This record gives sequence, C-alpha cells and structure tokens, in this order.
Amino acid sequence: MILVLVDHDGVGPDELSLQAAAFGRRLAERAGDGLQALAVGSDARGAAATLGAHGIPVLHVAEGGELDGGYAPRAWGAVLARAVERLGPAIVLAPGSDRGQEVLAHAAAELDLPMAANCVDASPGDPFVVLRQRWGGTLLEEAELDGPVKLLSVAPHAVAAEPVDGSEAEVRRFEIGVDPEAFGVRVVERTEPERGRVSLAEAKVVVGGGRGVGGPEGFRVLEELAELLGGAVGCSRVVTSAGWRPHSDQVGQTGTRIAPDLYIACGISGATQHMVGCRGAKRLLVINKDPEAPIVSHADWVVVGDLHEVLPAVVAAVRRARG
Ligand code: FAD
Repeated sequence: MILVLVDHDGVGPDELSLQAAAFGRRLAERAGDGLQALAVGSDARGAAATLGAHGIPVLHVAEGGELDGGYAPRAWGAVLARAVERLGPAIVLAPGSDRGQEVLAHAAAELDLPMAANCVDASPGDPFVVLRQRWGGTLLEEAELDGPVKLLSVAPHAVAAEPVDGSEAEVRRFEIGVDPEAFGVRVVERTEPERGRVSLAEAKVVVGGGRGVGGPEGFRVLEELAELLGGAVGCSRVVTSAGWRPHSDQVGQTGTRIAPDLYIACGISGATQHMVGCRGAKRLLVINKDPEAPIVSHADWVVVGDLHEVLPAVVAAVRRARG
C-alpha cells in the first residue's frame, strides 16, 4: 500500500497534498498497489470527499486532544511513524510543502529510515529509483532509495492535481497517544492576511523589489503599482535580510515560489536563488539600471533605468489609462 500524508486547512486538503495524491496514483498503477491517506486533526475529516474524488479510497485520521490543536511538526512526525509501523505501507509520500518535508523528516528520524525529498518521478522495484530536484530545482538527480519503506516528498508542481472518478474516502480513526513533549513546537496563533490582500503564491501579477529599491520607504510605489494591477508585492532576500520587508514577501529558493502571469522585477539582479522562485512566471518585465544584470537575459521586456524614475511614471501611465 502507498500512504499519502495529507495537509489540510480544516476545510479540504491543500493543493500540494493533492499533487502528492496524483503522484501516488501514478506509482500505485506502476506498482499494482493500493492508495490510502493519513491526516491529523478531527477537522481533516472534511477532506474525505475531495480525497475520494482524487482517487484515495481510505483516509486515516489521527484526532482528539492536542492533535486537534493544529500543526505540531514532531507530533505529526510521530503519528506518521506509528502509521508506518501499524499500516505497513511500502511507500510513503508527503507533499513538497515546508510542512510536508518537515513531518516526513521527523518520521524518517524516528523510524531510522532514509528519505528522498522533492521527487518528480519514481520507479518502484529493486533498486527503487527516484528522480528528484536538487539545488532549488536547477539540477535533476537520479538516485536509489534504500530502506524497507520508501519515504518520498513530491516536488511542488511535478505533477498536476487532477480529480478522477471516485466516491468519498472512507474515514478510519487512527488511535494514537502522542508524548506531550512532542507538542513543544506547535502553531499557537494564526494571523490572517489583510482582507483583500492577494497572496504572493497565487497572485496573477507580482511586483518584486530588490536592493535597488533602497529601503522600506522605496516599496511604497511598488505597493501602489501592485494594488493598481490587483497583484502582490514580492522581494529578494537582500530585502528581507535587511528587514525592509517580512520573509513572507520573499521570492526564491528560501522564499515563496511564484507563478504569476506577469512578474515585474525592480532593482533585482537575478541571482540563481531568486530565479528559482520566479521561473513559473509567464512573463517577466525587468526594471534595472544595469543592462548587464543577469536577470536581463531571462526577461521578456527590459526597461534600463532608475526604478525611482521609471516606477512613478508607470503608475501614472496606468492611472491615466484607467481614466
Ligand atoms: P543585488 O544582487 O545587490 O542586486 C541589486 C540590483 O539592483 C542590481 O542589479 C542593480 O543594478 C539594481 N539597481 C540598483 N539600484 C537601482 C535603481 N535605482 N534602479 C534600478 N535598478 C537598480 N535570494 C532571493 O532573492 N531569494 C531567495 O530565496 C534566496 N535564497 C538564498 C539561499 C541561499 C542558500 C543563498 C546562499 C542565497 C540566497 N539568496 C536568495 C540570495 C541571492 O544569492 C542574492 O544575494 C539576492 O537574490 C540578491 O538580491 P538583489 O537582487 O536584491 O540584490
């Protein structure tokens, strides 16, 4: 059996878990195996209909007590480790989110098993071969995965989450007691984004700023443009390291991966670690005073100039065009 770890928001499974389910279906067909899912918290029960529609007939839910209190990486890792011991899957898949990777790593440590992160494909058999992304997706590595149970996380967007014909998954309660110490790190509070604010990961337009913006005040005009275009503001790591913007705005290998219709990159040089995060953008407009900046070679359009002059002119032009 192939077991998929499912993350959820209390209403349904998240997109990357559904991608892991699609990856699992492909593997299940190749290996001639069944597919089941595991989720934590009683509100995970609401994921049963969607998971069924994505080809998963059985959902194990670990619930009750502190398990209903939200995300706790070590505790979720312990649940997954116990599920591996009791349900006996041959393969375990986790979504390629920060949380998916973290939980799988905790389970792997508990079980003393190797794990392969960010897989884009796998060939069950002996040896069990995985194709996986390294170096932020700039390198594809073919590797053999050892261990009696194969633990894999699925690289984001390696496969599309597509529903198939399937009825609601049967929910089975997974009885487990978790050591209270495992809840030492857990989510205690959630801050919702401001109403109406577009999330960076889902924005159709992203206006990104780098060191060239010059400081936190310089981002006002980027915010103005993003608002006019119904988009979100992003930034480079230099910006978050300097404390000009929160880490949640960072685009890149150690930030958010974006896939907008248009990315407007202002005062950003185009380091590999940044480009990894924005290569899903359909169109790239670069505003940079250096025509030799590496990002220029990736651009669809380039404005060579000082962003402090170019951006106010763009904002004024958009306002004029809209009357
Ligand atoms: P710079 O490289 O300094 O570029 C500034 C650009 O602004 C230049 O091209 C310059 O010509 C232009 N400019 C200056 N003034 C103006 C102006 N007035 N008008 C127009 N243009 C102007 N970086 C990320 O972004 N995201 C990540 O997730 C990330 N992860 C990393 C992970 C690791 C392990 C490491 C080692 C690095 C990571 N980095 C990441 C950092 C990355 O390597 C670069 O240092 C960073 O992206 C550079 O940011 P920048 O483009 O803003 O700054």
